[in-house]
Amino acid sequence: MTDHQPQDHFDLAIVGAGIIGLAHALAAVRIGKKVIVIDRDAVAKGASVRNFGFVTVSGQQSGQSWQRALRTRDIWADVAAEAGIRIAQSGSCIVARRPEAFQLLQAFAETDMGRACEIITPDCLAETMPAIRSNNIRGALWSPHELRVESRDAIPQLARWLAEVHGVSFLRSAEVRSVASPLIETTRGQVRADKAVICCGDDLQTLFPERLAAYDLVPCRLQMMRVMPGLPMPLLPASLMSDLSLVRQPGFASLADAKALSDRLKEEQARYLQHGIHLVAVQSVDGSLVVGDSHHYGGAPNPTAPSEIEGLILDELDAVLDLGQRSVTERWVGTYASASDRPMLVDRPSADIRIVIVTSGSGASTGFAIGEEMISEMFGDQCAA
Ligand SMILES: Cc1cc2nc3c(=O)[nH]c(=O)nc-3n(C[C@H](O)[C@H](O)[C@H](O)COP(=O)(O)OP(=O)(O)OC[C@H]3O[C@@H](n4cnc5c(N)ncnc54)[C@H](O)[C@@H]3O)c2cc1C
Repeated sequence: MTDHQPQDHFDLAIVGAGIIGLAHALAAVRIGKKVIVIDRDAVAKGASVRNFGFVTVSGQQSGQSWQRALRTRDIWADVAAEAGIRIAQSGSCIVARRPEAFQLLQAFAETDMGRACEIITPDCLAETMPAIRSNNIRGALWSPHELRVESRDAIPQLARWLAEVHGVSFLRSAEVRSVASPLIETTRGQVRADKAVICCGDDLQTLFPERLAAYDLVPCRLQMMRVMPGLPMPLLPASLMSDLSLVRQPGFASLADAKALSDRLKEEQARYLQHGIHLVAVQSVDGSLVVGDSHHYGGAPNPTAPSEIEGLILDELDAVLDLGQRSVTERWVGTYASASDRPMLVDRPSADIRIVIVTSGSGASTGFAIGEEMISEMFGDQCAA
């Protein structure tokens, strides 16, 4: 990777080499800026490599978030082709186990956001997903918009491509201690840059902690696992979700028809709701599935992965897919900074510094669009030139 020389001067320094930092780097190099990305870790370890790599469109809040997701999906598709990042799945499939869920999917399909989506029957679904328990489901919504990348590979590859093809400098294993452009103090020396964007993920303590405290952000902790099916099965063509996702994802949950489903889930799956569990299952090229997740907010995030939660997620998986004698081969947790009142925050400590945090657990789905918006705001007319 390109390393920087102490005498270098950059147009833009970015703190954080997760997807949000890399998205800002891409937007800046696309308008010809000289960029450095600084991260305390030698290799990515944050939320961006712990997630599903699921670029979700259907399910985003209508309006700006949905538009950002569409734009981000398009950029992912372009970047994947140019940078040699494999698209592991295309589209998403939300199966309805209950009539109330099916009714909600049908209502969604009638909205502007649902226009390109398709309602499909269990039999039709079984043709494309033979492992689906078609007897257990009422129908499904097929959305064509989504993409999935294998984030553990995609994020390092995206960084390599930005360095090698676009000349982005990377300063790794360097914690940024202060940002007062043009001077950025790191544990590996000073960096000079006219402007800076801080994409610090869930680290709310190191840079501008007093400003970030004003936003009432709380850590959200998610439990994830990798499951190896016990039966040979063709790769899932799309990412898979079920009823519980419909009451978590704002694009569905904000529809009037969500109430009946929510009431029924409170009776039948109260424990799941208590742990913020919904099912997302995506499949890797070796046949294993990345399966999750749960959501616990606030407090000191528990680094362990309780088996009760894992059991609940697996029960929901088994209700939808027949994987035979499946086994859990990996377990991990991840965190992001969350806010109950906004999907993202932009703080402006000065005219040349921005702090950008996606607070809705959707950075892989909205990050590229956010990067474009921020770079346009910071460099203004230079973007149009
Ligand atoms: C388990 C899990 C599953 C998820 N699934 C999805 C999904 O499928 N789809 C989706 O869209 N979203 C998903 N999300 C949310 C998504 O992963 C995040 O919104 C996104 O990764 C946030 O990216 P980021 O770059 O802000 O943070 P991070 O990836 O955490 O990166 C922040 C980086 O900043 C660095 N850093 C911070 N402070 C400093 C400093 N002072 N000096 C130097 N370096 C610093 C850190 O080392 C880190 O590398 C999921 C999140 C989790 C936890």
